[in-house]
Amino acid sequence: MGWTARPREAERSMVTLAGGARVRDGHPPDEGRLRAVIEHLADGVVIVGRDGRVRFANPAAEALFGLGAEELVGSELGLPLVAGETAQIDVVRRGRGPGAAELRVVEMTWEGEPALLVSLRDVTDRAEAEAQRLRAEREAAGRHEAEAVARRARFLSQVSAALAASLDPRATLERLAQLAVPELADWCVIDLARHDRGLERVAHAHAEPAKRAVLERLRAEYPPRAGMPTPASEAVRTGRPLLYAPLDDETLHRLTRDPAHAGLIRELGTASLICVPLVARGQTLGAVTFGCGESDYDESDLALARDFAQRAALAVSNARLYDDAQQASRAKSEFLAVMSHELRTPLNAILGYTDLMQAGIGGRLSPAHAEHLSRVEANARHLLDIVEEILSFSRVEAGAERVRLEQVDLRSVVRDVGRMMEPLVRGKHLGFDVSVPGEPAPVRTDAAKVRQVLANLVSNAIKFTDQGAIRMEAQRDGTHHMIRVRDTGIGIAPEHAQRIFEPFWQVEQSNRRVVGGTGLGLSVARDLAELLGGSLTVESTPGQGSTFTLALPADD
Ligand code: ADP
Repeated sequence: MGWTARPREAERSMVTLAGGARVRDGHPPDEGRLRAVIEHLADGVVIVGRDGRVRFANPAAEALFGLGAEELVGSELGLPLVAGETAQIDVVRRGRGPGAAELRVVEMTWEGEPALLVSLRDVTDRAEAEAQRLRAEREAAGRHEAEAVARRARFLSQVSAALAASLDPRATLERLAQLAVPELADWCVIDLARHDRGLERVAHAHAEPAKRAVLERLRAEYPPRAGMPTPASEAVRTGRPLLYAPLDDETLHRLTRDPAHAGLIRELGTASLICVPLVARGQTLGAVTFGCGESDYDESDLALARDFAQRAALAVSNARLYDDAQQASRAKSEFLAVMSHELRTPLNAILGYTDLMQAGIGGRLSPAHAEHLSRVEANARHLLDIVEEILSFSRVEAGAERVRLEQVDLRSVVRDVGRMMEPLVRGKHLGFDVSVPGEPAPVRTDAAKVRQVLANLVSNAIKFTDQGAIRMEAQRDGTHHMIRVRDTGIGIAPEHAQRIFEPFWQVEQSNRRVVGGTGLGLSVARDLAELLGGSLTVESTPGQGSTFTLALPADD
């Protein structure tokens, strides 16, 4: 390392050696004495000439460098030699292992020439302590980071739990805004896009209860309408997240309508701000804005905010899809109700006229005509059943089905259904067994609905059974009357056992189905059972048969 001696003021060149000897530049004391002092110093001392070569080294320096005097003198050590500076260098430390030395350089005169006095203090212990401190600091920082990661994961899982808790988007977003403070923000507001392209504030929260009034004023006085500058409208317009840390006055001015608006946002405690659009299924649904009283929002906060927004957006989107589906389903039910009603009138006319013809009112029928007419009648009745089923379904779905309670003996209801269904069972050459308890089974219920449910179960049993028998039995079981309809038919796979109760759902969905049906029977049957305070369940083994159980609460 190069070095040029510069003329120096006497004071600045004053050197205090560890041994206490004072050397004043330009006034060399007895050099022999100086050498003797240096020789005995505990610190290493090296004197370097202006050519950069070592002129003299004390034993402590030899030990530090692990070199003999003869090797040191005349060598260039390649040390950082800047007068007045200190530096830390690695040293060998003969006999003690590698370490660190603190090096100080001062100018002096040696043997009548300008030179540098380099003192070397062994600071290995200090350096180690420092390294240890740094390590501990790094570990603490690592721990801190790990804790932050864990906290964030916990936060996001709370967010997910809140989202799963409800399908009502407003309640959910309210809960989310509460969760965001103080974990992610001092305050949080959520705005949703409306159909008229404006925004609507659906939730807000502040970590300090006293500041909630400011949020209320913000909502009342500066509602996030379309075209009005707010952070949310900016994020919705650009579709990009915004991070302002710190949030300077100029930006705030741009994002607000007037100084009072900006003032309210500052009053919330806003030194930095994050605003993330809520985007799901390619649609921008709104934005969530987070404010922080400190100016230190960073990329990791932004990442967390985006995770938060992503989950919230999906929840909003799901809720909207659900709403749309509900609406579509209501529209479908209304359509079915109207359609069925319209179909029923001409169908009744068809049945009425077949009746007249069968009675020979318009003249005698040939046997072939009579046969054809009975087919017309059977098909018209079948069609009427389907229409009734659809009507019944729409009534239940619209909550319009009324229960007409009467006191009945359940045994007679079951026997009625047995009599009604018997011809159909026999028509398929299946065994049919109806069994009821010996003692009366009084129950206050809507007998017509119980009949409808049971007829439906038996008609399904007939449809899905090709050989064997159908059995209908009523039994008292504690607080309930159990009416079971068993068949020896194709059975139902476990994965379908719950779906069969969904409207329009059929195990064999294709239009090449062998058996007919609307897929509404069981859905209506279960709804009616529940309307009567009971339940409808199924147990089945594929290939062996099914048992449907209607449970009705007993009177006593
Ligand atoms: P539908 O009989 O009009 O198709 P349901 O709601 O009554 O409608 O029944 C739904 C589906 O459940 C049927 O399509 C059939 O796949 C299955 N299912 C109902 N009852 C039985 C049964 N006893 N045995 C086997 N499968 C049945």
